[in-house]
Amino acid sequence: MALLEIRIIGDPILTRTAALVKQVDEEIVRLARDMVETLHAAPGIGLAAPQVGVAKRVIVVDLSVGVDIEALHILINPEIVEKEGEAVCEEGCLSVPDIREKVVRPYRVVVRGLDLEGRTVEIEGEDLLARAFCHEIDHLDGILFVEKLSALKRTLIRKKLKKNAADAKKA
Ligand SMILES: [Zn+2]
Repeated sequence: MALLEIRIIGDPILTRTAALVKQVDEEIVRLARDMVETLHAAPGIGLAAPQVGVAKRVIVVDLSVGVDIEALHILINPEIVEKEGEAVCEEGCLSVPDIREKVVRPYRVVVRGLDLEGRTVEIEGEDLLARAFCHEIDHLDGILFVEKLSALKRTLIRKKLKKNAADAKKA
C-alpha cells in the first residue's frame, strides 16, 4: 500500500468529471486500498479518487477514521438513488485546507455502487454519513463544497486561500 498525494483546490483534476470504472480489476482494488490508507493518514472521513489525481469514480468513506472496519465504505461508480430531508452542518475537505463552512445536504440518502468484488451494493446513510457520501460523489462530478456557498463566501474563501498559500511560502 502507498500514501497518495492529496490534490489541493486550484488543481484542474478537482474540477473534472471522473470516468466510470468499466471493470473492478486489480488496479482499482489497489487504488481503493491506497485511498483508504491516505484517508486514515490525513486523517479524514472521506476521499474521492480525483483528490489523489485519478479521474475515476471511486470513493472511500469512513466516519470512524480507521477505528471500526464496519464503518469503512468503498464504492465504485457510486450514485445517489434516494434522498430525503435536509440538514445544515459545517463541512470541510482535505482538498480545501483550513476552510469549514455550513452546507445544506440531504438528511438521508441511499447510495448504490459496486464493492471491490464488483457486486452491486446499496448503503443507507443518515446525517453525517449521508453528508459524506454526497460530498464525495460531488467530487466525482468536479464539484467542491465551497462552490455550494454564496458568491460572497466564495470570494472570502478565495482571499483566505491566497493568504494561506502566501504565508506557507514565507514559512
Ligand atoms: Zn472533499
